Amino acid sequence: MVTTKPINLENIYIHNLANFDKNKARNIEVSMLRLDLIHPIISGNKWFKLKYNIEMLFKTNKKGLLSFGGAYSNHLIACACAAAHYGIPSVGIVRGDEHAITSNLVLQQCTNYGMRLIFEKRANYDLKDTKPYIDLLQNQYKDYFIVPEGGNNEWGQKGASEIIQFIPTSFTHILLSVGSGSTFVGIANAMHAHQSIVGFAPMKGGKYLENELSSLLLNLNKETWQITDRFHFGGFGRIHNNVMSFMNQFESQYGIVLDRVYTSKMMLGVNTLLEEGFFNSNTKLLCIHTGGMTGNNL
Ligand SMILES: *Cc1c(COP(=O)(O)O)cnc(C)c1O
Repeated sequence: MVTTKPINLENIYIHNLANFDKNKARNIEVSMLRLDLIHPIISGNKWFKLKYNIEMLFKTNKKGLLSFGGAYSNHLIACACAAAHYGIPSVGIVRGDEHAITSNLVLQQCTNYGMRLIFEKRANYDLKDTKPYIDLLQNQYKDYFIVPEGGNNEWGQKGASEIIQFIPTSFTHILLSVGSGSTFVGIANAMHAHQSIVGFAPMKGGKYLENELSSLLLNLNKETWQITDRFHFGGFGRIHNNVMSFMNQFESQYGIVLDRVYTSKMMLGVNTLLEEGFFNSNTKLLCIHTGGMTGNNL
């Protein structure tokens, strides 16, 4: 089994992105919260979403961790690495039975961390959140604590809400990439009344998340939160030339490496919204670097 590095929240800091807004006259400050520095594999938002799930695992005397993900899932590799970190076994249910351990580096690394992968037919995988499917799985893996895809449960959202501790109240806007939306929900419910949050969906049609998440954001004024799917650049996991050149330029300007799937599309989106005059003068934007560097090696 591979040894793992410690999870270090002390590495988190806010990086001021000087000159990110080209129009200096309106005095919009743009900064980045570096959650990507927590850990090379359990990076960004993933540790926050796993934290209380792992605590529940131990509280309920389970012996292993079971979760779900696509073949390139940052969540699955974070689960595999976290389980290795705690010295417990893990099982990953992977979407699509056309895949194998050798299909890509993410799946290979999951296996290196000791995760047992099960490649599930898409039709079955789609049932993963239904009670009969979960009951059957729990019966098969009695000693395993089952975490939904993306860590999207109350424990995941509770952990994500702790990200607010790293966001000073002086910021007016919180900007982040969304997948399952659990990080978004956690932060949105914990933010201050004068703050707004925008989620950038890297998949086509991701706007549907607004409906799905609204029942979890009942205490919020709808004016303060939204999801945009304008910046998917061809769809989830698709590599787009504009995104790649933006990502390279961002790295040379600020010395910060973004990931291709989520954060580079979000930052290009933020850049576009700034050009369009979406944000008022004198606002302070905090973009969250949610990690995901494992996706850059594919
Ligand atoms: C997983 C992931 C997200 C999406 O997080 P959700 O809580 O599922 O919305 C965003 N950015 C990166 C880099 C990720 O790996």
